[in-house]
Amino acid sequence: MLDYDVRQNVFGRAGYMCEYCGARATEIAHRIAKTQYNIKHIQRYIKNKYGVELSLTYIRNRIINHPKNLASSCREHNDYFNIGNRIEEAHALVDEIYKELRSEARKVYCRK
Ligand SMILES: [Zn+2]
Repeated sequence: MLDYDVRQNVFGRAGYMCEYCGARATEIAHRIAKTQYNIKHIQRYIKNKYGVELSLTYIRNRIINHPKNLASSCREHNDYFNIGNRIEEAHALVDEIYKELRSEARKVYCRK
């Protein structure tokens, strides 16, 4: 389940409209769907590219449920946002989210 705050953030940034058609948003769509297959794929991808082994839980909570992987959607267009079959685009999104998470982690570390 998504945190209430994350849902509100995603709906709010789109003005509670579907990011595709502009109708009233009723659901949150995942660009990379929350499947065990995708989560394991991301784990392998990060390990090969960055040499870091992330836990499946971390990938599910912090990457799959990251606001950048989510879109505000009407009931009709949820599938439209899915990029699971566009591998280059999906990898680019994972890179973007992973870099953001690392830079957040650095900020926390530097504050100590
Ligand atoms: Zn729509």
